[in-house]
Amino acid sequence: MARYTDASCRLCRREGEKLFLKGTRCYTDKCALSRPKRSYAPGQHGMAKKKQSEYCLQLREKQKTKRYYGVLEKQFHGYFEMANKKKGVTGENLLAILETRLDNVVYRMGLGSSRAEARQFVRHGFFTVNGKAVNIPSYLVSANDVIEVTDKYKSNDRLAAIMEVTAGRAVPAWLSVDLEKLTATVVALPKREDIDFPVQEHLIVELYSK
Ligand code: SF4
Repeated sequence: MARYTDASCRLCRREGEKLFLKGTRCYTDKCALSRPKRSYAPGQHGMAKKKQSEYCLQLREKQKTKRYYGVLEKQFHGYFEMANKKKGVTGENLLAILETRLDNVVYRMGLGSSRAEARQFVRHGFFTVNGKAVNIPSYLVSANDVIEVTDKYKSNDRLAAIMEVTAGRAVPAWLSVDLEKLTATVVALPKREDIDFPVQEHLIVELYSK
């Protein structure tokens, strides 16, 4: 399966925003965007001031969102098509779909210091959904689904260490998490106001609607 393998911090520097791709490092002074010397876009022309066209703004918003959720272009476009077919506002539907990916749910539960780490746990079979083993990070959860760490991994040291690190992280209102039992229930599908990612989703819709 294709995946991005270059340095994660380059992606944040390119977008000029923290995308929280490297777990705990993102909350420390080691973050490239916390260091003035590295807080410009990567590459030879990274420091040049550019006037951004409308297309450029739309493209950057799409790239930022893709990178934040760790999704590649083909799959992201597929999510847009799915969102477009649903009732309601396409941009909000798109964000709701991305939020309900199983790897994102695991991250939101606080069982991954980054989405990449959460994805790795899902692939390694750490989770069940409604009692059935699911090892597909892109699996989309539905309302009332119950996500649980499998018995085999309930006392996993790595999970325990991550929970210590993510203890203060806010859990979104659409998830009910029980960290004693290592389960989460999808109370309802996420609404726009539940999603804290600073994105102007209408720009993505405009880009794909050209
Ligand atoms: Fe982005 Fe995290 Fe790297 Fe900072 S440390 S630039 S937030 S990936």
